[in-house]
Amino acid sequence: MRLVLLGPPGAGKGTQAARISATWQIPHISTGDMLRAAVASGSELGKKVNEIISKGHLVPDDVIGEVVERRLSEEDARRGFLLDGFPRTLPQVGILDRGLAKQGTSLDRVIFLQLDDETAVTRILGRKEDGNGERADDAEETVRERLRVYHTQTAPVANEYGSRGLLAKIDGSRTIDAVFEQIKAALEGIASTGSDDPSESGPGGGR
Ligand code: AMP
Repeated sequence: MRLVLLGPPGAGKGTQAARISATWQIPHISTGDMLRAAVASGSELGKKVNEIISKGHLVPDDVIGEVVERRLSEEDARRGFLLDGFPRTLPQVGILDRGLAKQGTSLDRVIFLQLDDETAVTRILGRKEDGNGERADDAEETVRERLRVYHTQTAPVANEYGSRGLLAKIDGSRTIDAVFEQIKAALEGIASTGSDDPSESGPGGGR
């Protein structure tokens, strides 16, 4: 199962990604988590991206593209993955297309968690007040900038996958359980849960 999880900040991508990853036993690959880990490590990459993230902007496509390509070539991502936060721009869609083509694979589905801006802001600022998963880029001004960037740069990604017939639209305003039920329904028929995935047993096996 090769999946992309798409949606605005605050739509619940991280929460749903953890469930999807556990249910279908595929690695959850979050570019935001990878970049935050790079920042925490104080690496050269981390120093460069820290300033970008704290402004709510996107790191350059070639930088994140390289990070993702390296991660997808690791053993555990061979039989499937859930990409969370990537691709976020049209050029990143192209980077992913080329990376998967090199492996002789392609995406099975793009899960699109939809949420309106005001609900997104309320949720993120609530998360900040609770001290629950608070992030350095959760200040209101930065959240508004992340939403602006989402609408200009990432919404076209949803349209692109829509035109390819890969997009599963999910109402992200509902409860965590209700959202997960919608996701399960959208993924039905692609692959069974667990490791006995019949779609993986074709020529080459993808392993
Ligand atoms: P996220 O946790 O997915 O909301 O990502 C947090 C921040 O990391 C974003 O606001 C961007 O600054 C950066 N980031 C994460 N994924 C990407 C990506 N695919 N392309 C560019 N920047 C990214």
